Parts: sequence; C-alpha cells; structure tokens
Amino acid sequence: MIPAKGYAAQNARTPLAPFRFERRDVRPRDVSIQIQYCGVCHSDLHQIRDEWGGSIFPMVPGHEIVGRVNRVGSQVTRYKEGDLVGVGCLVDSCRRCDNCQEGLEQYCTNGHSQTYNGLEQDKKTPTYGGYSDQIVVHEDFVLRVSDKLPLPNVAPLLCAGITTYSPLRHWQVGEGHRVAVLGLGGLGHMAVKFAAAFGAEVTMLSTSPGKEADARRLGAHKFVLTSDAAQLKAIRGSFDFIIDTVSAPHDYNLYLSLLRSDGIHICVGAPPTPAEIVGFNLIGARRSIAGSMIGGLPETQEMLDYCAEHNIVSDVEVIPIKDIDQAYERMLKGDVRYRFVIDMASLE
Ligand code: NAP
Ligand code: ZN
Ligand code: ZN
Repeated sequence: MIPAKGYAAQNARTPLAPFRFERRDVRPRDVSIQIQYCGVCHSDLHQIRDEWGGSIFPMVPGHEIVGRVNRVGSQVTRYKEGDLVGVGCLVDSCRRCDNCQEGLEQYCTNGHSQTYNGLEQDKKTPTYGGYSDQIVVHEDFVLRVSDKLPLPNVAPLLCAGITTYSPLRHWQVGEGHRVAVLGLGGLGHMAVKFAAAFGAEVTMLSTSPGKEADARRLGAHKFVLTSDAAQLKAIRGSFDFIIDTVSAPHDYNLYLSLLRSDGIHICVGAPPTPAEIVGFNLIGARRSIAGSMIGGLPETQEMLDYCAEHNIVSDVEVIPIKDIDQAYERMLKGDVRYRFVIDMASLE
C-alpha cells in the first residue's frame, strides 16, 4: 500500500481535518498521480453533511483533480511519468453494460465507482477523493490535460465543466436557441460559458443582484433577478431550455412557466429534498423536465480538448486546504466567484 495524506470528514457533523490513509499499490494498468489542485464542488458539501443519505465515513472529498503522473503500471500505454492529467467523478465502472460500452460510464447499470464516497468494483473497498496528495486510478479513467491552460482553472472542468457541457451537447443547444441558466455558481458559470460558446442566446437567472456584471462578462446576453416579479413576468414563455444548477430546494413551477412550448427544464443541481411539480405547468405547453449527470469518459476528454482549443477555463479562487470550511460557508451563501480550488501544495 502507498501512504497518503489528505483532509477527511469523520462524520456528518464535524469539520474536515487532516487524515492519513493508504492508496492501493500501482497495478499493471494503474496510473499514480501527484495531485496539484482539486476543485471544491457543492456535491462535496452535500456528501460530507450526508444530505443525500448513505454517506461513507471517513470521507476524503474531491472530484475535480488535476496533477502529474508520478508512476505508471507495467502495462499502461496511454500515460507516462510527468504527464499532466485529470480525474473527475468516476474511477471505475463495470465496463460491460450497454451504457459502459457506449462511453456513458456515469449511467453504468451495475453501479460505477465514484471517486469518493463510493466503492471500488469489488463493492467493498471505499474510494477516497482529491483533497489529498496523490491518487491511484486505472488508466481508462484518467484524462489528458493540455498544458496550454492555467492548471488551477482547469480543475473545475472535471465536474462543473462536464456536467454542463454534456446536457448542452445532448440536447444540441446552439444557434437559434434561447437558454436560461439558473444559479450562478460553479456549474452555472460554466453553463454560461459553454452555452454562449455554442452560439445560444443566454439569460442568467440569479438571486444575486451583485452578480450581473460577472454574468455578462462570462457571456450572458441578459440578466434577470429572480426575486423581481416584474422582470420574471417579462420573460414568461420565452426559453427553449433552462439549465438548473441550483443546490437548494426551489420552486420548479415558477421556472417551468418561463419555458416556451416544448421547452425543457434540465436539472443538474441536486437539492436534497423532493420537489412538488404542478402537472399543468408541463401539459399546458408540452414541456419536459429532464436531468443529466456529469459525463462519460470519452465526452469528458472531448470537453477538455474543446476547452483547450477555445481557451475556456473556470474562474477560480485558489485556497489553502486549511481554509476549506470557510470556503464551504461562503459557498452556502452563494459567495463564490466561481469555484474554490485547493492548492494541494498547502497540504502539510
Ligand atoms: P454552487 O457553486 O454553490 O452554486 C449554486 C448556485 O445556486 C448559487 O451560487 C446560487 O446562485 C444558486 N442558489 C443557491 N441557493 C439557491 C436558492 N435557494 N434558490 C435559488 N438559487 C439558489 O454549487 P455547484 O457546485 O455549482 O453545484 C450546484 C448543484 O449541482 C449542487 O446541488 C450539486 O450537488 C449539483 N451537481 C450535480 C452534478 C450532476 O452530475 N448533475 C454535478 C455536480 C454538481 P445565484 O447567486 O446566482 O442565485
Ligand atoms: Zn461535482
Ligand atoms: Zn456498466
């Protein structure tokens, strides 16, 4: 086993604290990665506080991982020592089911192995994530990162990036479409960047008046404050798609009314409590509600390559790992511009 260090939650109520643990030895097809940066996703917070239920403790969060390869197994063909790489939300899957065969490992019907708060494919060994100094991952679940982009700003692409890129590609969002992005946080700011890059007309729907200038700088054409009834009334029935990135419970009916007929409300945000939806808001205009989870390995690589080609990265605030709890508190208040990223050199 390889000794590793990181930060972990020991239970759902206490703050993260330094934690020593072990990574598996490098197997023939494994890549060992020295982690340089790890993004802080709202899913980390949901899971360390066990808001979705079923959390596995101790938990080392983190699934927006970038770093350099420091060792490869004897049969690894795609990576070598020194390569810049990334690891996202998945570290393994069954590889056999229809979805895995199609590169949709996130929808593995036999259960994928998530990067942390999950189990390896043996269904008993817990996985530990990226708030740590190193990680060992099968090469099939490692992604290539371009050295053209600033590394801390690349880290959030591994979750916030792919989670917004994938539905926009799936529903072929582009020129001629009116898209609303709901919630300007980690996912929201990437949704704005991608939707604008794909040629859609983008409206930011936000609870924070102070984010208007940023929304426009990120690529939004319009900004609507959702607490202002008059502003909302003016945009009723106007969008082809809403990308909903909100992490807290909210009224879906309000936002459904903003869709035109055949419009689709795409949920990527994952509030912990169930929502009430009034059927008339769907049937009255043949609207749909859909959901989308991260992205598979081939599409995640496609997204990283697209970002390198089009110079798209996340807007980040780099923090030392000791400030992680303050970062969570600020994230809960919507005070993040627009992703916290941990500099792993700060790990002692
Ligand atoms: P985040 O950075 O905290 O951003 C969430 C944003 O939602 C906030 O900045 C705020 O934007 C808005 N918001 C918060 N509370 C709200 C409320 N009560 N009503 C309306 N708007 C509210 O979070 P994130 O990292 O982007 O993650 C967002 C959600 O996506 C989380 O639930 C996370 O677990 C989930 N997620 C899902 C996937 C997936 O695969 N589907 C992947 C990653 C994350 P404004 O200030 O603009 O209102
Ligand atoms: Zn995430
Ligand atoms: Zn599978």
